Amino acid sequence: MSVEAGAAWSYQDLNFFGNSLSGIRTSITMPEHSLAFDVAQGFPYTLNLKHFFITHGHLDHAAGIPYIISQKAMTSQLPARFYMPASLVEPMTKIMKIWAEIEKHEYQYYFQGVLSDEIIPLSRSLFIKTFKTHHRVDSIGYTLFQKKTKLQAQYLGLGRNEIVALRQSGAVLHNEIETPLVSFTGDTQIEFLDTCDWVKKSKVLFLEATYLDDRRTIQNARDWGHTHLDEIIPRLKDLECEKIVIIHASSRYSNAEAQSILKKKIPAEFLDRVELFPGR
Ligand SMILES: [Zn+2]
Ligand SMILES: [Zn+2]
Repeated sequence: MSVEAGAAWSYQDLNFFGNSLSGIRTSITMPEHSLAFDVAQGFPYTLNLKHFFITHGHLDHAAGIPYIISQKAMTSQLPARFYMPASLVEPMTKIMKIWAEIEKHEYQYYFQGVLSDEIIPLSRSLFIKTFKTHHRVDSIGYTLFQKKTKLQAQYLGLGRNEIVALRQSGAVLHNEIETPLVSFTGDTQIEFLDTCDWVKKSKVLFLEATYLDDRRTIQNARDWGHTHLDEIIPRLKDLECEKIVIIHASSRYSNAEAQSILKKKIPAEFLDRVELFPGR
């Protein structure tokens, strides 16, 4: 099996499939919701999805955009929708125009530029909220939220007729509960955690840690707009996430090595919450 085939990882009813290896490829998909966070080079597991959330324009995250668009045309699928940092829309549109010229084919696609703190509705019960990240180029992170309406506590136990009567009298019966299910950072320095409270409360947080041990320093990581594991460890106590999934680790660490570094460095009380994404 080739590495590009991807790997699966699940937590409760949240299922993911993809790869993430620093500088080489990053795309994590949620097939049941037909969405991808980044697209790497456009691997087979991305080609039938509908919504693509691009964190930034580096090739290991975004090179697959033209290929996915062309594959959708070839297999008569509806045009895909790509969300990306606003400043990336113009250059990506130029790239698509050049491919159209080379291939003598006019492609259909939607590029939507996003800034931080934007809401993107996906369905009645799901939406994406963007958050600010700090990389060497314009970048954005994404959180998948679930929306649920819940009858307010004081109305619990009432019969149907009473509820109907209350509604007709104009009473607000339900509270809307928004739960951050999954946050995906893309490439970033650690500071994004200072401004995005909901990210720290996400059920699952995909967090980049490009460097894991002292073969590279914290400063090395920061110079390239990345995060070092040593910066994450002191912040674990502030994260309410049920799972923190490390992505984007450098190719200098094998899976086994990365896992053993995590096991050695992460304090025991957090060990069951921190995992390495298995697809590299
Ligand atoms: Zn990257
Ligand atoms: Zn990058």
